[in-house]
Amino acid sequence: MSKLKKNANKKIGAPGNEKSNLLVEKFPVDLGIFEPLARELQREAARVWNTVCSVHRTLYIRNHVWLNEAGMDDFVKGKFDLLHSQSVQAVVSTYYEAWERTRELREKGHTDWRYPYRKKYFFTVTWKRSAIKHRGTYLRLSNKRGVKSLELELPEHLKGAVIHQVQLVWHRNGYWLHVTVEKPALPEVQGDVYAAADPGEVHALALTDGEEALVISGRLLRSLARLRNKELRKFQRAISRTKKGSRRRKKLLAAKYKFLNWIERQMEHILHAISAIVVRWCEKRKVKKLFYGDPSGVREKDCGRKYNQRMSQWPFGWLRKLVEYKLKLRGIAVEKKEEHGTSGTCPKCAGYTKQSGRVYKCGNKDCGFTGVHRDVVGASGILDVNLNGEFTKDRKLPGEVIYVRPVLRKVKQRRKKHKTAA
Ligand SMILES: [Zn+2]
Repeated sequence: MSKLKKNANKKIGAPGNEKSNLLVEKFPVDLGIFEPLARELQREAARVWNTVCSVHRTLYIRNHVWLNEAGMDDFVKGKFDLLHSQSVQAVVSTYYEAWERTRELREKGHTDWRYPYRKKYFFTVTWKRSAIKHRGTYLRLSNKRGVKSLELELPEHLKGAVIHQVQLVWHRNGYWLHVTVEKPALPEVQGDVYAAADPGEVHALALTDGEEALVISGRLLRSLARLRNKELRKFQRAISRTKKGSRRRKKLLAAKYKFLNWIERQMEHILHAISAIVVRWCEKRKVKKLFYGDPSGVREKDCGRKYNQRMSQWPFGWLRKLVEYKLKLRGIAVEKKEEHGTSGTCPKCAGYTKQSGRVYKCGNKDCGFTGVHRDVVGASGILDVNLNGEFTKDRKLPGEVIYVRPVLRKVKQRRKKHKTAA
């Protein structure tokens, strides 16, 4: 395949067209009689991955050359029995993306990152445009010539949608479809205002453009995250006491997956609610660019165990991605910025004091500034540093602070229902 055509394929994955956007819709599917075929396709996709991985490594070890993606495409061509040629290529491209990302990280000094090496048994299958046919809610995904196609029902709201890509993903205890559809573009915000967002434990997010501040409560998010971690620990403990392959273990695993799927849907709802608040605020304030504080560097030092850190942090990364995604669709840029003492730096004297309370208190006796919410000082600090290059003394703080609390309908009722069902 020519290089040009390949680039054209790649562009499908990134919304660059001014008139439309590509969105990914995710939902569980019941494959019925197609399930054995789906499993075989996923196995073959894993074989593609393993082949690419070992050829790429072996060539490097023997000849000290990294075979490029086009060369790999030629190598794998015609070597597989079930998958559509573009589905094979999709695996190759996923491999190269992962490899490239690792190389970049390693060049930046993160040498603990490993190139892909693990043998896979199942892998996500991707169908590109020419392998997808659909009419109404009927969807047909073609494989290699002579191999049966997958036939599925699409959800009602995707009727007549322009589909660019379909992926079959195994998620926990079942198959999911990730369907990339084209949506008409949203009107872009023509703004010239810079703003900053400070994610936090107490508040999900504090926003400011220097004039006004918006503080979004993180209470609900935090309680859901805690509930998730607590229940997950309980499940793990109970599962570890059972024998492999036992009926008891199977039952517990099923209950665990059910719980995880349920709570993640709840989290998703609330993250959507929070990000919608952010979007509305940015649109109203005509924001052009949002500096988004990244607490990961700060927190890494406090937590010893990587696992725990990931557990306590996971909703924050998810929220950032969602906010970034939604704002981008409206032409608002998001820039991730590492926080360096932003919430501890005094807006008056620019000295640093480690904060423990919710209201900012300056430790400098000659200054003693206090009375403003710590997260508002934090957001204002991020904005200050990014606009002026350093913390300024007598920084102007937002005149008005608005507090909002995202609401989630029927959390308690649904939780009860879940308990009685389990
Ligand atoms: Zn001070």
